[in-house]
Amino acid sequence: MCATPPSQELLAIDGGIPVRKALLPYGRQSIDEDDIQAVVEVLRSAWLTGGPTADEFEQAFASRVSAKYAVSFSSGTAALHGAVFAAGLKRGDEAVTSPLTFVATANCVLYQGAKPVFADVSCETLNIDPEIVAAKITPKTRVILPVAYAGHPADLDALLDLADKNGLTVIEDACHALGAEYRGRRTGSISHMSVFSFHPVKHIATGEGGMVTTDRADFAESLRRFRNHGLSTDARQRNASGAWQYEMVLLGFNYRLTDVACALGLSQLKKLDANLARRAEIAARYTAAFRCLPGIVPPSQRDDVKSAWHLYPIRVDAGMLRADRGQVLRALRSENIGVNVHYLPVHLHRYYRERFGYKAGEYPVAERAYEQLISLPMFHGMSEQDVEDVISAVRKVVAHYSRDIRGEMAGRSDRS
Ligand SMILES: *Cc1c(COP(=O)(O)O)cnc(C)c1O
Repeated sequence: MCATPPSQELLAIDGGIPVRKALLPYGRQSIDEDDIQAVVEVLRSAWLTGGPTADEFEQAFASRVSAKYAVSFSSGTAALHGAVFAAGLKRGDEAVTSPLTFVATANCVLYQGAKPVFADVSCETLNIDPEIVAAKITPKTRVILPVAYAGHPADLDALLDLADKNGLTVIEDACHALGAEYRGRRTGSISHMSVFSFHPVKHIATGEGGMVTTDRADFAESLRRFRNHGLSTDARQRNASGAWQYEMVLLGFNYRLTDVACALGLSQLKKLDANLARRAEIAARYTAAFRCLPGIVPPSQRDDVKSAWHLYPIRVDAGMLRADRGQVLRALRSENIGVNVHYLPVHLHRYYRERFGYKAGEYPVAERAYEQLISLPMFHGMSEQDVEDVISAVRKVVAHYSRDIRGEMAGRSDRS
């Protein structure tokens, strides 16, 4: 049943008292004593980088997502770069991706001199729509690069089917989706390659850090070389075998993740399940509170999917309120709720508009969503009080801006 709207209170943006005193960020890491001890141990060891802790983290990560191989990178962006390289993406090629994502998803395609081709998203999940992707495939297409927006996997079976028919590689930007599931399978084991990030707002944090998972040995080898200057062996392999010579076989980068960061990642990974459970609990509380709030559309989760709930993006239906998304967002920030917008569609960034001539109106579903989206605070370290504060603030702001539908209807019938 829907609750009755709360009573009107003066908004903080209009000089009222904010719902909370200190700003609640939209996302942040949780670091405990075990994490600190794990890092200290590596600091006392022989290997600060390229050492055994990196192997250990990669193996534990691969096993957690049920993939054969995991290759660590210095960031999620570097991992994306490695993945498009391993897929053989090169100048003249195209990669079909979502416009509603962080710029790094499309930028990695540009790093290879290839062209990102956007496919609009489905209104329900805000993930790329396989039917639209199919229409974007040309003889130049080599990669499909879906994003698991907010932690909700894209329709991967349909995309893998398309890839199969056209000889393409599916690289999933799973930076939002560590721990998610699709049709009973784990994100990281489904696409040809899956890319993760360990930025502090993500499910596990290493400061900067990323990972690519795959079941293909050739991709794994290519990824390892690419992150290490294109060398055929790494320093520890040479140490172990007594060989001193190394050979550069391709043009790579130094994208290695340090053992210091890997120690933190390994320790954080132990808490992933608890983090995911807490995020799901917060999402359920939000959805129960907002389901019947006029003007607010909570995110949905398809039946065959388990979201990792990286974000909790609500959509503001301005037609139901006397305020647009921008006003609601500013009002919530004044209440000290650190809301955000994910994302300005990539093609509308100045660089993309100026370089590729993109215009507003080309991807209407993503653009309309962008105008409505607000990401509420969502991180595993949120307290009960934090969750309550977000719910109170949203209710307060919506109550203030809600149209009196009955009054309007009455007015309309008077006039007729
Ligand atoms: C975080 C993120 C990235 C990049 O990760 P970094 O580790 O910050 O480089 C890429 N794509 C998406 C969708 C992300 O959310």
